[in-house]
Amino acid sequence: MNLIANSNYIMKDKIHPKYYKKAKVTCVCGNSFEVGSTEPEIHLDVCSACHPLYTGEHRFVDTAGRVDKFKARLDKAKKLQKEKNQKK
Ligand SMILES: [Zn+2]
Repeated sequence: MNLIANSNYIMKDKIHPKYYKKAKVTCVCGNSFEVGSTEPEIHLDVCSACHPLYTGEHRFVDTAGRVDKFKARLDKAKKLQKEKNQKK
């Protein structure tokens, strides 16, 4: 190892945050597992056990009800369109 590479290593080592080899990851679905992380605990909304991509389920991950709101707006627009056509 030459001198430049060596000093570079020391600098990087100083800015490294604490590394947890067994950080506990907890998901809202109840699944939990351990990973290496700089955080001792991680909380997830979705994980590999409940994400639609992994489960193969066709469902929306829609916690805020945005899909329902969009559907309601779409229905409203359709109604307005019908009323317009009836007036002609
Ligand atoms: Zn999950």
